[in-house]
Amino acid sequence: MEKVLNKFKMEVEAQSENESFVRGVVGAFASQADPTLDQINDIKTAVSEAVTNCIVHAYKKKGGTIFVECELFADQITIKIADNGVGIEDISKATEPFYTTAPEDERSGMGFTVMQSFMDNLSVNNNFGGGVLVEMTKFFTKEKAADLASGE
Ligand code: ATP
Ligand code: MG
Repeated sequence: MEKVLNKFKMEVEAQSENESFVRGVVGAFASQADPTLDQINDIKTAVSEAVTNCIVHAYKKKGGTIFVECELFADQITIKIADNGVGIEDISKATEPFYTTAPEDERSGMGFTVMQSFMDNLSVNNNFGGGVLVEMTKFFTKEKAADLASGE
C-alpha cells in the first residue's frame, strides 16, 4: 500500500448548506495531489451526492451528523461519508439506476449511479449500529497520463 500523504476527518451537521461546504473541502483537499480539473469536479460531484443522501434520506431533513474522512495518496484519494441515520434495507436495489424512495421529492434515483460513474470505486454498506457508510476512491494517474499524451 502506498504512503498516505495527508488525511483529515470531520463531522458536520446534516443541513443543506453543508452540501457545498463538504464538496468544497474535499475538492480543496484533493487538489493537493495535483489532479486534473475534471478529476476534481468528478470528486466534488460524487461527494455532493453522498452528502445530499445523508441529509435527505438518512436524517429525513431533520438533521444529524455526517462523518467525512479522506486519505490522500500520490495517485488516489479515498473518501468515506457516513451517517447514523435510518440505513438502507436493500443496498443492491438502492444502488440501481432510477431507484428512489423519494419520487415525490423530485429525486431521480441517480445519486449512486453518479457516484459509481464519476469515481473509480464505490462501496455502500450499512454501519454497525445504524446508518450508511459510502466509500469511494478516485485514481489520479490514468486521466493524467491521458492528458499528457493529448498535450493538455
Ligand atoms: P437522486 O440522488 O437522484 O436525487 P435518490 O437520492 O433517491 O435520488 P440515490 O442517491 O441513488 O437516489 O439513492 C437511492 C436510494 O437509496 C434513496 O432513494 C434512498 O432510499 C436510499 N439512500 C441513499 N442514501 C441513503 C442514506 N445515506 N441513508 C438511507 N437511505 C439512503
Ligand atoms: Mg441521492
